Amino acid sequence: MSDHAPVSADVVIVGGAAIGSSIAYHLAQDPAFKGRIVVVEKDPTYAKAASALSAASIRQQFSTAVNIRISLYGIGFLRQLGEHLAVDGEVPVIDLHEGGYLYLASGAGPDDAGAVILRDNHAIQTREGADIALFDRAGLAGQFPWLNVEDLACGSWGRTGEGWFDGWALMQAFRRKARALGVTYVTDEVVDVVRQGRVISGVTLKSGDRMACGTLVNAAGANGRKVAALAGVDIPVVPKKRFVYTFHCKQALAGVPLLIDPSGAWCRPEGRPDAAGQMFIGSIAPGEGEADPEMDDHDFSVDPHLFEDKLWPLLAHRIPAFEEIRPGRAWAGPYDMNLFDHNAILGPVEGIDNLVLANGFSGHGLQQSPAVGRALAEWVLYGQYRTLDVSDLGFDRIAKQRRVLEKCII
Ligand SMILES: Cc1cc2nc3c(=O)[nH]c(=O)nc-3n(C[C@H](O)[C@H](O)[C@H](O)COP(=O)(O)OP(=O)(O)OC[C@H]3O[C@@H](n4cnc5c(N)ncnc54)[C@H](O)[C@@H]3O)c2cc1C
Repeated sequence: MSDHAPVSADVVIVGGAAIGSSIAYHLAQDPAFKGRIVVVEKDPTYAKAASALSAASIRQQFSTAVNIRISLYGIGFLRQLGEHLAVDGEVPVIDLHEGGYLYLASGAGPDDAGAVILRDNHAIQTREGADIALFDRAGLAGQFPWLNVEDLACGSWGRTGEGWFDGWALMQAFRRKARALGVTYVTDEVVDVVRQGRVISGVTLKSGDRMACGTLVNAAGANGRKVAALAGVDIPVVPKKRFVYTFHCKQALAGVPLLIDPSGAWCRPEGRPDAAGQMFIGSIAPGEGEADPEMDDHDFSVDPHLFEDKLWPLLAHRIPAFEEIRPGRAWAGPYDMNLFDHNAILGPVEGIDNLVLANGFSGHGLQQSPAVGRALAEWVLYGQYRTLDVSDLGFDRIAKQRRVLEKCII
């Protein structure tokens, strides 16, 4: 790790967590790229980075083709991680567990609104090649005997291609491989961006160092809006505080996927079951009309009431075995929320020749890191997307008021 920035780099990436390191890796591994890549990361402990505080789960159950394609590439990448990210023959261990997501719709029957959405989504997901099964109420009861189905109309479950993994390990694997391929990581903070009209010529770092750059990539996570503003660009991305609670259930429940209740509450197993039971994680985002203030970068305290008063009762209604659980530790982390449509903002900015955005992942950036890294590396190198076209998620959609809206958000 270098602590001094070189005087210039062909590509400077602000932020060296999952997204920044994936872009760095994908660029560096392309034989057509001959330049120097510098990643500027202000905190190499990643203590406050979303990539380190994530629930680290991957789903195919989106309702837009671009997000499904991004996740299909993502699961393939995670399954073959060694082919991409092994260093000196050492394959990173990310403990991928394809337990599936289970989206549930409430109601009496197939004509209820939630059921119609799940069916519509299922049609798109299947068309794109995702392996998703639809269940009616009786089907749910048969497949998931621990589930209370009395108020459910139906559910959709990812048979393969969905699950969870060690997000920290994925981030570190990208970073390690990028460094092995010659990427320089500098411990410093980008505090200014030098721009003359259409061109960004360099960055200023907190240490006082200046670095000239060919291309500047904003992968600053929840700090992305501030970094974009340094270049004179306003992106509608704000940090939102989200919590993850752990709890332990003594009863053995076979095959619990990442369950998303119609209330918005979610949970999934964490780690392997043992003789004493199974650990779970879970949470719930603020609902319509509930307070959802921006997160203060210095306040990672956990809401002490959310679990007891809201999450636990909702989960225990859905999985009665959760009546008797033992709450464990909890943590808070920042969602880089794109207020425009809750989806990533990727690629170039109109009017600036050499700025690339990788921001606003709104709670699904870790699973998107493989495909986004590949796509943005292509953009930097070739000025176009060659494998997966992510231009639907371009910044220009905001000016054009063209929202990419997901019908299943968590
Ligand atoms: C509680 C929680 C649960 C989540 N669950 C999931 C999930 O299940 N699945 C999923 O796919 N995603 C999930 N996410 C979202 C996912 O974690 C993020 O979208 C993803 O990690 C974003 O990665 P990133 O590299 O863009 O940002 P971060 O991981 O936040 O990294 C940004 C980095 O930029 C650095 N930085 C910022 N400003 C500067 C600067 N000026 N100079 C230098 N460095 C700078 C920071 O120090 C940081 O290391 C979750 C997030 C949270 C908080």
